[in-house]
Amino acid sequence: MRDIDKIYINGQFITPEGTDILQLFNPATEEKIGTVRLGNADDTRAAIAAAKRAFPAMSRTSKADRIAMLHRLSAAVRARTDDLTAAMTDEYGAPAYFTGFSVQNTASIFDVMAETVENYTFDRQAGSSAVKMLPLGVMAAITPWNSNFGFIATKLAHAIGSGSTVVIKPAEQSAIQTQILLECLHAADLPAGVLNVVNGLGPVVGAELTTHPDVASVSFTGSTAAAKIIQRAAIETMKRVVLELGGKGPTIVLDDADLDRAIPVALMSGFANSGQACVAGTRILIPLSRCDEILARLKSEAEKLKVGNPGDPDVRIGPLVNERQWQRIQSYIELGKQEGATVLTGGEGRPDGISRGWFVRPTIFTDVTNDMRIAREEIFGPVLSVITYCDDDEAIEIANDSDYGLQAYVLSADTTRALAVADRLIAGRVIINGAPHDPHAPFGGFKQSGIGREIGAYGLDEFLEPRAILVPTW
Ligand code: ADP
Repeated sequence: MRDIDKIYINGQFITPEGTDILQLFNPATEEKIGTVRLGNADDTRAAIAAAKRAFPAMSRTSKADRIAMLHRLSAAVRARTDDLTAAMTDEYGAPAYFTGFSVQNTASIFDVMAETVENYTFDRQAGSSAVKMLPLGVMAAITPWNSNFGFIATKLAHAIGSGSTVVIKPAEQSAIQTQILLECLHAADLPAGVLNVVNGLGPVVGAELTTHPDVASVSFTGSTAAAKIIQRAAIETMKRVVLELGGKGPTIVLDDADLDRAIPVALMSGFANSGQACVAGTRILIPLSRCDEILARLKSEAEKLKVGNPGDPDVRIGPLVNERQWQRIQSYIELGKQEGATVLTGGEGRPDGISRGWFVRPTIFTDVTNDMRIAREEIFGPVLSVITYCDDDEAIEIANDSDYGLQAYVLSADTTRALAVADRLIAGRVIINGAPHDPHAPFGGFKQSGIGREIGAYGLDEFLEPRAILVPTW
C-alpha cells in the first residue's frame, strides 16, 4: 500500500489543501494498492504562483544551464529504473517489453532535448533586426495515464529547453508512478519553482490551469473530447495550446508484403501498450486479392499473443487500466457486431483461464467498412478492424478518410513503393515496415489528432516566440 499525500510546489513536497482521496488499484489483480490525496484549485494557484516567480530567472538561463539540467534529469531517471518499472507494472499493468522501453525512453527524452537545445538557434537575424526566441511564460502540462512517465518527461523537457517553468497535472489514477518519477526529478535539483506537479481531477486542477491568466501555454496529451474543453477555456486568455490527441491509425498491408514479417508488425502496431495507444494502427487495410490468406494469418498469429500477468516476460498484452476502460471495450465489441462486422478472433469477456483483472480478449473484426463507428472512433483497447481494398489508390483513400491523422503504417516488400504510399498519407508520422522508434522525429497529428508538434526543434518552436529588436543605422 502506498498513500500519496503530497504534491510538489516550489521544489518541495507539500501537503495539498485539497482533501479528497482517490483509491488506486492494480489492474491485473483488481487489488487496492494505494491512495492519492487530490489537490484543488487553491493548490493549483499556489503552483502557478511558484512557476511565475521562477520564470524570470529561468527565461534568462543559458543554453549550457538548460543542457546541464536536462542531463541531470536523465541521469536521475536512469538511477531508479527498477523502481520506475515496478510502479508502472503494478499500477498500470504494462507488459515487461513495454515498461522496459518506456523507462529508457523517459531518460532519453531529456538527452534528446539537451541535443536540441545545443543545436537550436535562439539568437537570429532578420533583415537588420536582431531576433531572439523567447519563452512564452508559465506552461501548464496535462497528461494521460497510458504512458505517464513519457508524457511527463516530454512536457518537462520542452519547458526546460525553452526556458519556461511548468505546472504539470498528471492523470490522477497514475499517482504512484508520478510519485516515483517525481522523486527522480526532485533529485535532479532544478531551481525551485521550475517544476511543479499537482495531482488532481481534470475538471478541477486541469480547469484552473487552462483558465488562469498567469499560464501562457497549455501542453496537453489526452482525448480529443477533453482537448475541445481545454482549447475553449484557453481562448479567454489567448494561451498557446499544443494538443496531442487521439488516433485511428491505418496499417496498410500492400499486396507484395512478406506476411511472415508483416503480420506480426501489423498486430503489434495495433495491440502495443495493450491497445491503449493513440498511435495504434487500429484499421488494418488489406488487399482483396490476398484477403483469405491474410485473415488466416492474422487470426493464427493473434491467437499466439500471450495475454496475462504483466510481470511475465512473454506477455504481449496486459490488462486495461481500469474497469471503466474494460466496460468501454466490451461495449465497442458489442457495437461492432451490431454494425454487421464479423469477429475473426476474440470477442466479449475475459480471455480463457483469466477470472480477474481488467483483461480483454484481443479482438479482430473483419467485414468492416470504413463508415462503421468501430472504424471511425478511437476504441483505446486491443480491438482491430480489417478493411479490404482493391488497389493502392483505394487503400490511401480509406487510410486518409478519418477524422484523425496521428500515425500510419505501411508494410511492403518494396521500400520505394512503401515510401510512395507514405508520401500520400495525412499523418504526423508514417512507420514503414515496423521501423524502430526514432526519438528525434516530430510527434503530433493532423486534423482532430491535434495541434502542433513535440520533440526536437519542432517541439521547442511551440513554446517560443520571436522578439525582434530594430535599431536605427544612422
Ligand atoms: P481519459 O478519459 O482517458 O482519462 P482524458 O483526455 O479525459 O482521457 O484525460 C487526459 C488528461 O486530461 C487527464 O490528466 C485528465 O485529468 C485531464 N482532463 C480531463 N478533463 C479535463 C478538463 N476538462 N480540463 C483539463 N484537463 C482535463
